[in-house]
Amino acid sequence: MALPLVQLTRSADPEPVPPQPQPLIRKPSWLKVKAPGGETYLRVKGMMRELGLHTVCEEARCPNIGECWEHKAATFMILGDVCTRNCAYCAVAHGTPAPFDPVEPVRLAEAVARMGLQHVVITSVDRDDLEHGGAEAFAGCVTEIRKRLPAATVEVLIPDFKGSERALGIVLESEPAILNHNLETCERLYRLARPGGRYDRALALLANARRLRPDGLTKSGIILGLGEEWDEVLTAMRDLRRSDVNILTLGQYLRPTDAHLPIARYYTPAEFTELGEIGMTMGFTHVQASPLTRSSYHAWEQAETAAARRPGGSAAIPT
Ligand code: SF4
Repeated sequence: MALPLVQLTRSADPEPVPPQPQPLIRKPSWLKVKAPGGETYLRVKGMMRELGLHTVCEEARCPNIGECWEHKAATFMILGDVCTRNCAYCAVAHGTPAPFDPVEPVRLAEAVARMGLQHVVITSVDRDDLEHGGAEAFAGCVTEIRKRLPAATVEVLIPDFKGSERALGIVLESEPAILNHNLETCERLYRLARPGGRYDRALALLANARRLRPDGLTKSGIILGLGEEWDEVLTAMRDLRRSDVNILTLGQYLRPTDAHLPIARYYTPAEFTELGEIGMTMGFTHVQASPLTRSSYHAWEQAETAAARRPGGSAAIPT
């Protein structure tokens, strides 16, 4: 029997209050990383160029690229590189996207197979111009990659599909190893940071993913340093557990350009460790929390440990 569609309703998102930027603070030492250059990294990089693929790793100038590519893990961006939304922390271009390309999943899967990747994360720009927000492309990529590389784990980092349960269902039918949708920030800052999104809608999407696929792994992430208070982070974490999310990522916000939201503050490594420990007591099966954590950072470990710690279902959800 089909369970009812979960709707997490609250009052309308509160008016955004811009974070008060602190005086310019120098980037702390813990955010500095070694330049990439390992053997596997260089080989993967060569193939990315040769095959003309777009990765978030490169386009977002992710500091973890050396480590991730050395582990044969990468995050691909599908459905073009122009977004229909305009989040205040994100470097991706906003505008009118290119037409939908139905052959993209086949091309991507061929490339992933050639590179012999072991953990693949697929994400996209927001495509509010498409009927199902591009859900068919996500499902197509999972299916095509599995055909060519059955041992690879495929994680999908999806947009909110404007709350469409049909779109979510299309993605879940392809049975990705992990379904990820980032909450990104606390409720108070949502309209400021993510004006096209809704806090409740993100939580409802994750709750619906659990309902539609009770045994699947779900995941979400929060970026810290946009101006949220400590208690607001804890509330967001609790809200994610109410949606029965298994895996949580917490990382430091780094401002892409001067046109983006300022960094309100840098969290210390000790604060990340503390939040990670609190997350585990809340019932997440895996929490990746560190200044350099991105939603796909160490994704290969997240899939393994979260699944291993989850015999017969997820831990209790706090009330
Ligand atoms: S953390 Fe994600 S985006 Fe960054 S390099 Fe690793 S896979 Fe790519």
